[in-house]
Amino acid sequence: STNQRAFNFNAGPSALPLEVLQAAQEQLVNFNGTGMSIMELSHRSKDFEQVHNEAIERLRTIYAVPDNYDIIFLQGGASLQFSMIPMNFLQQDGQADYILTGVWSEKALEEAKLFGTPVVAASTKDNHYKHIPTLDELNLNDASAYVHITTNNTIYGTQWKEFPTTVAPLIADMSSDILSTPIDISKFGLIYAGAQKNLGPSGVTVVIIRKDLLEKANTNIPTMLKYTTFTKNNSLYNTPPTFGIYMLGEVLKWVEQQGGLEKVAEHNQAKAKLIYDAIDNSNGFYVGHAEKDSRSLMNITFRLADEELEKQFLAEAKAAGFVGLNGHRSVGGCRASTYNAVPYETCKALADFMVAFQAKQ
Ligand code: PLP
Repeated sequence: STNQRAFNFNAGPSALPLEVLQAAQEQLVNFNGTGMSIMELSHRSKDFEQVHNEAIERLRTIYAVPDNYDIIFLQGGASLQFSMIPMNFLQQDGQADYILTGVWSEKALEEAKLFGTPVVAASTKDNHYKHIPTLDELNLNDASAYVHITTNNTIYGTQWKEFPTTVAPLIADMSSDILSTPIDISKFGLIYAGAQKNLGPSGVTVVIIRKDLLEKANTNIPTMLKYTTFTKNNSLYNTPPTFGIYMLGEVLKWVEQQGGLEKVAEHNQAKAKLIYDAIDNSNGFYVGHAEKDSRSLMNITFRLADEELEKQFLAEAKAAGFVGLNGHRSVGGCRASTYNAVPYETCKALADFMVAFQAKQ
């Protein structure tokens, strides 16, 4: 049955809320009485435009996005944002500050080198990216075009708890923790996220951008790579990823039904605590990768004392129906991704499995 859901801890694409999948299933071949699937509607039709505009408005309401920000939908994933950001905002002789907290911020930095002179304003690489730098460890240059951070490090399992107040606009890759907790949007110049973790299926990229940045943006770049192409045309310059935008809208409704971001955040804390407690109460049988004050509520990374045991743990977990617990191929170990849509019961099942696995060794 459709209710037989896996214990899905995939890092991305990852679990979607069952209620959202069921709502989409119900409407799949006949959206809103149109006799067509949402995927078959013209993106210029009233029915689609309503879905599109409602998704934008819902996101604006959920995050209390101020009026001086635009919300746009793009394609190309978060990875294209690594390039679009410097392409739009960096001059050839211009500086931008990059704070390195993992693989994704390294990738963002590499793209910026193609357009200007990015500077590493802080890095925790020497500590195997086990922590987020403290605010006084940041060497920020007020004259920089922007400061780039990755708010949640999907691979290492660390997360910023407090954001720096910057003179240069703060630009954040929130791909793996967007919508997981309330944040003050006004601290940021630009926020971006690939949809496939907390927002919906892959294919849509959400960007929230402060309007004054658009005025300063470079103009000698391709049309599809300019933010203004999307802000000026309400993200309908060309055919948008219509199904993904529809699903995003359904996920946003679901977030509202959960009671909004405060409630989602409480839920996420309770879920992550189950698994972190299993680690912390294991007397070193499980070893968390992240330092405690930098622990992510979205990606919980840990190792077992020896590699043989780790292999056995992953194999037995797989056999017991747990999906996606292998760490990222670049670092190994184990990772449980506990995004918004992963139920409490699924996290409880994993925590119980971890305790039971340890007990029988
Ligand atoms: N940034 C972060 C923090 C991610 O977790 C990921 C993907 O896992 C990416 C960027 C890359 O996203 P995309 O696959 O949408 O390009």
